[in-house]
Amino acid sequence: MANSLLTDASRRLDRALQYVSISEDTAERLKSPKASLKVSIPVRMDDGSLRVFEGYRVHFDDTRGPTKGGIRFHPQVNLDEVQSLAFWMTFKCAALNLPFGGAKGGVTLNPKELSKAELERLSRGYIDAIANFIGPDTDIPAPDVYTNPMIMGWMMDQYSIIRQQRSPAVITGKPVALGGSLGRSTATGTGAFYVLEAMMAHLLGQPSDQANKPAQTVAVQGFGNAGSVVARLLFDAGYAVVAVSDSHGGIYTPQGLDIPSIQQFKADTRAVQAVYCDGTVCSLVDHKVITNEELLQLEVDILIPAALENQITAANADAIRARYIFEVANGPISADADDILDAKGITVFPDILVNAGGVTVSYFEWVQNRSGLYWTLEEVNQRLKQQMVTAAETIWQIAQTHQTSMRTAAYVQALTSLGAAMDARGTRADYVGEKG
Ligand code: GLU
Repeated sequence: MANSLLTDASRRLDRALQYVSISEDTAERLKSPKASLKVSIPVRMDDGSLRVFEGYRVHFDDTRGPTKGGIRFHPQVNLDEVQSLAFWMTFKCAALNLPFGGAKGGVTLNPKELSKAELERLSRGYIDAIANFIGPDTDIPAPDVYTNPMIMGWMMDQYSIIRQQRSPAVITGKPVALGGSLGRSTATGTGAFYVLEAMMAHLLGQPSDQANKPAQTVAVQGFGNAGSVVARLLFDAGYAVVAVSDSHGGIYTPQGLDIPSIQQFKADTRAVQAVYCDGTVCSLVDHKVITNEELLQLEVDILIPAALENQITAANADAIRARYIFEVANGPISADADDILDAKGITVFPDILVNAGGVTVSYFEWVQNRSGLYWTLEEVNQRLKQQMVTAAETIWQIAQTHQTSMRTAAYVQALTSLGAAMDARGTRADYVGEKG
């Protein structure tokens, strides 16, 4: 039987445990989620029929603070996936030193098949079902795959109706007009860009050393909220973004794509492939239509999986030809693929560091909601950069010290912080008299 996603995720933990001294209590507690809620959400459809959707919310660990994590609307959503995503959130918040534990939620559906009014009823119905499981001091949801600020706004509104008081801090990633933070919608991609720039300076030397070298080539899988933003920032910074894709497939041109026009066409047509095929740019650029699998296997300097989990597994890891991989999606590489990529000399920068910009600005949004004082975009981005680069440099140093992968180093950093918080509440040693 194939490993569950959570078992696979836990293997990263086992690897890191050999480099960090934490109590056996902590290691044991981090193997399973604190609480998992499964709900049914009845929704009246536009044609009068009733459909019942399955939804989940999982709290993985709350030792370091209220649990935090997004809500995903996707046909593949299931309990195992949501538990793994909640596990990653726990380690992400700890690695970035945000005062949160980890959670995740999801509803199994294809939101593209619902009308906007149906989507609103579903979003409000989901909050009705989980209202006692979330709260500004207990568990704070946010957007994830196929959810967006408008959905967060409906959800915050529904929670406020149930509680009979305005509760902006119960959910982050809201529209700015409803208490959302400036910079939240671009935060995951922007944070990933800051990490990438800091790490490339280690790998290649400072930008001044690179002045006369050819631009680094990049392939980005996924052109959603995270992938399109990081592609644009890399394009603006002079990288050659040679391939991008969405769930329908991708486009490739060795000279580099014009990312701003792809963003524009994607916004208009909702398909990346349509960009060069239907649009006026079609005649100007010689491009190739490729599959998502082909994109992953391109010979590029930097590969950025920014779509879903398990894209690189033992089945295709051997075919990967990038030099560096920055995981902007959650869990795009399976644990057994780690070893294969490592043996090929490919350096992987892990999800719990690279994509932490989203939850970092979510933290800023929660702070702003609670203080009632709102920050400028410059302030948000400057704090985001500081948080991301500090975490990346700390993890880079841990990797150098232990001669280990960046992934293991990120888990070492997270475990150190989680272990300290758990141990401060008492361990076996405190109770059997091994400590004074
Ligand atoms: N869904 C995002 C993630 O996976 C953001 C979570 C949040 O902002 O709480 O990190």
